Amino acid sequence: MRVIYSPRYEMPLGGHVWPTAKYRLVAERLSAREEFQFEEPPLAPWDDLALAHTSEYLDKLRLNTLSRDEIAALELPWRPEMADGFRLMVGGTCAAAAHALRDGVAAHIGGGLHHAFANHGEGFCPLNDVAVAVRKHGRRSAIVDCDVHHGNGTAMIFERDPAVFTFSIHQQHNYPLFKPRSTLDIGLEDGAEDEQYLGALAGALPTVLAHAPDLIVYVAGADPFVGDKLGGLALTKQGLAARDRLVIGAARHAGIPVAVVLAGGYASDVRDVADIHVATIEAAALQQA
Ligand SMILES: [Zn+2]
Repeated sequence: MRVIYSPRYEMPLGGHVWPTAKYRLVAERLSAREEFQFEEPPLAPWDDLALAHTSEYLDKLRLNTLSRDEIAALELPWRPEMADGFRLMVGGTCAAAAHALRDGVAAHIGGGLHHAFANHGEGFCPLNDVAVAVRKHGRRSAIVDCDVHHGNGTAMIFERDPAVFTFSIHQQHNYPLFKPRSTLDIGLEDGAEDEQYLGALAGALPTVLAHAPDLIVYVAGADPFVGDKLGGLALTKQGLAARDRLVIGAARHAGIPVAVVLAGGYASDVRDVADIHVATIEAAALQQA
């Protein structure tokens, strides 16, 4: 299975809650194994970014003219050079989507920047890689967003696009405060555990598949894990692995290509985050046939 990764994803963020070391930790555990073919992402061209973002916003990123408020909304120690790091992540998700369409399944050790809107970024997400990849490679797509946080940017970008089915299963009482409607939303109560989560997910997937997408982007956040610093659900690693098998298995059983992206994960021990992401990519590889 093709795996997209760049060592440049490990951006130094100086004590920020986002453990960018996780990308390297996941890559180190998979890169030596023969079932994975690693590939470096290309920098997404600005024209591709315009598939999901306004030219006014892209000009601000390109010319370094974001306002103080726009930078504050990113909640990142923003430096203008970081724009290229995020363009690379968009390129990675586009590459994973292209490989998935050819091979059935592909994974990106990165991406899932679902809080970026067409005209602004927020919540660690300056650019929406999922939206760009879906616009570039899907004709009729679905996004299955299992990050603990609602996929607000993605929902809004595709609000009036009937070709794209957006599904978000998340913790209801968590960021973002304002949750624009996805095609299908499931907001779980605080502390929801494996059984409740998996039951709700299994109940929703047939509706997603009934859209008959030609591509599914699976946003496989590790932050529904119990004890996550930014999440309030209580899934175990076994529960998260069952989630991965459920999503990827349902898609593959229906013959739909799946591109996997990682999204969030803020456990107090970054090795737990890496364990969860590695298991997701292993689940994808098993479903390739
Ligand atoms: Zn998240």
